[in-house]
Order: sequence, then structure tokens, then C-alpha cells
Amino acid sequence: MYEKSKGYRYLFGPVPSRRLGRSLGVDIIPHKICTLNCIYCEVGRTTSCTTERQRFYDPDEIIAELREFYPGLKDGLDIVTITGAGEPTLSSDLGYIINEAKKFVDIPVGVLTNSTLLTDPNVRSELMNADVVVPSIDAATKETYKHVCAPHRSLDIEEINRALIGFSKEYKGRLLIEILLCRGVNDNRDEIEKIAEIITQCDYEIVQLNTVHRPPAFSRAVTVAPEFLIDTALYLKSKGINVEPVGNYIRDFSGGHMTGEEMDRLLTMRPCSIKDISMVFGVTESTVQEKLKSADLSEFEITNVNGEDFYFRK
Ligand code: SF4
Repeated sequence: MYEKSKGYRYLFGPVPSRRLGRSLGVDIIPHKICTLNCIYCEVGRTTSCTTERQRFYDPDEIIAELREFYPGLKDGLDIVTITGAGEPTLSSDLGYIINEAKKFVDIPVGVLTNSTLLTDPNVRSELMNADVVVPSIDAATKETYKHVCAPHRSLDIEEINRALIGFSKEYKGRLLIEILLCRGVNDNRDEIEKIAEIITQCDYEIVQLNTVHRPPAFSRAVTVAPEFLIDTALYLKSKGINVEPVGNYIRDFSGGHMTGEEMDRLLTMRPCSIKDISMVFGVTESTVQEKLKSADLSEFEITNVNGEDFYFRK
């Protein structure tokens, strides 16, 4: 995948983040090394399911690349996000990377996590210096967790959720909790009520309620209807939870530009629709269509989700 990214090894983006706006991703984990194998994963099926933290890349190489390219990319960015096509807290260099990045990055540095390693005191302590942490909670019961996230056998969802509550109380930055609902899997009222019980014990800024918007790893991950998302948000609000249903949100930019290489790089990291690409780069949809016409479409996997085509570089 990296050789396609035309110059970067660890950076990707800007990418359209539903949660964070326009985000420069820093990929600190090799593709699909994860503690989970979520059915809705948009970067494919997990190839190595582990909970063992380790060094995957030289952290100074990651920081050197960010230091070199960040000044030229920072205009129009909302956040630098430590993430990857896997679980970033698996990197034992996470804390070092956050701290080094914050020495020269003058916009927020965030971390996306699936919450599983919040049970590890080292992970909690390393995350303390991030400006934004976005943990997920997709289930409250073992059975549902198994169906939606297929966790590593050593993981216990009740312990993870207790750790999330504990972390939320210690952490001083912005904590944005994400729930992702898949139809018929974790969208029943009992499960949502149990998830609500956990969230009401957390200190957080907002809960973002989401569903499947991009081609999932497993076809049984199906989008819930927008009305259902809104109804569920209202239900969570009635429990005193600060929640917003998140559509396929991307900050709208205009007057931008995009080269074929930039479009290519984006599509190696994340499946995007023509609208996504146009909004990320601030160009018209017809510009994107023209660029796609001149690209070799055999290099793309094109998947239709809810009537919209998503392009992902193979
Ligand atoms: S969605 Fe995130 S946590 Fe789930 S399998 Fe994909 S990379 Fe791992």
C-alpha cells in the first residue's frame, strides 16, 4: 500500500473524517493489525488479531516525516490524527509519538482508538497528552460484542467499558465517544440501553452516533436508517446523554485544488465517494469525475453502498 502513496510512508490525507473534519492521518500500525475484527471495518478484515503492544516502525522516522511535510500541509487541516488501518494503541511508541508531534504541531493532535487497550495503565497514561481522544463503544454485552467486533479471545468487554469510564474521568482533553450501529447486530433497545448506562458514567464532550457509511469488511454490516439514528439519538438524549447523530459528515471546502496523485493517495487509505473527494479537496464533483476518467479504473475497487459508488485503490 505504501508504495502507492507517492512519497509518504506514514502520513495520509487529508482524509474526510466524519468525526474530526479534515484530518492528516499518521499511520503508526501496519495494515490490519488489530485487537478486533469489526464487521463494519472500512479498511478490510483483520489479518493479525493481537493484544500485544510492540514497536512496529521506528518512531523517529514517523516524526521526521511529519516534521518534514506538516508545514506544507497544515493550511486547511483541522487535526493531526494518530490512527492507521489497525489499532494505534498497539504501538508501544504511541506516547513518544504524541509527545514529539506536539512539540511542533500547532493544531490538535488526536488519537482514534477502539478502547480495548484502555485496560492497560500505560496506554491510559500515554493518551493523557493527546488533545483529542476518540474511543469507540459498540456493545455492552459479550454476545453483541462478539457479533459486531469479533474481539481477540483475551478481551472482556465489561472490563474494557469499566476502563473507558475510568479513563474518561482522568483525561483532561476532549473525549468524543463514538457508537457505530449495524442493523440487526447492535441496534436493539436492550443493548443501546446498556451502552447508555456506561456512557452516563463517563466524563466526555459528546457522543457521536454513527452507522455504516463506507464499504464494510463483512457484508452483514448493514446501515441503519437515518430515522433510526435520529430516534436513537433522541432516546440517548432522554437519558441525559449529549449526543449527535453523525451523517457522512465532511467539512465543506471550496476553492481548493487536487492533483491525480493527491486523489490517489487518499483512495489508498480510505474508500471515498465522488462527493467525499470533492469535499475533502474543495473541488467540484465534475473535476473529480474528470480525474477518475483519466485514471486506470482497473486499479480501483468500486463498491456501491446505499446507491453511492465508493472508490478504493487495490
Ligand atoms: S474498525 Fe477499527 S477496531 Fe475495528 S477492525 Fe477496523 S481497525 Fe480494528
